[in-house]
Amino acid sequence: MTNLTPSELKSLTGKLTTRRSELVAMVRVGAADAEQDNLRRVGGEVGDPGDESTALQQTDLNLAEMESGMRELRAIERALERVREGSYGHCIECGCDIPAARLDACPTAERCTQCQTRHERVYGGRDVTPSA
Ligand SMILES: [Zn+2]
Repeated sequence: MTNLTPSELKSLTGKLTTRRSELVAMVRVGAADAEQDNLRRVGGEVGDPGDESTALQQTDLNLAEMESGMRELRAIERALERVREGSYGHCIECGCDIPAARLDACPTAERCTQCQTRHERVYGGRDVTPSA
């Protein structure tokens, strides 16, 4: 079914669930912060335009962090879903076994290295290193 041993699978699932709790907590804190910022702005406590731009920048940063957190959270949910289905550890494109070392470094990996490289070349990706 999979090239992973039960203990490897267990350790990867553990990593995924631990990371998921971290992200859920982070997103919650971020949401609470954003709400407070909004309340402060509605309450009109920010008088100085300089203060306001700092407050806005802070909110933007939180939103960016939350957005990447949410993205990672969704990737983790998908990975855990694949664990339940028994398809975890298989490349979603070619179906080959994703090397355990790759999963260990990136437990949410959905593709083997080859397919990931091709996917990033076609769709772009943040982790693409231009090959000179
Ligand atoms: Zn593949």
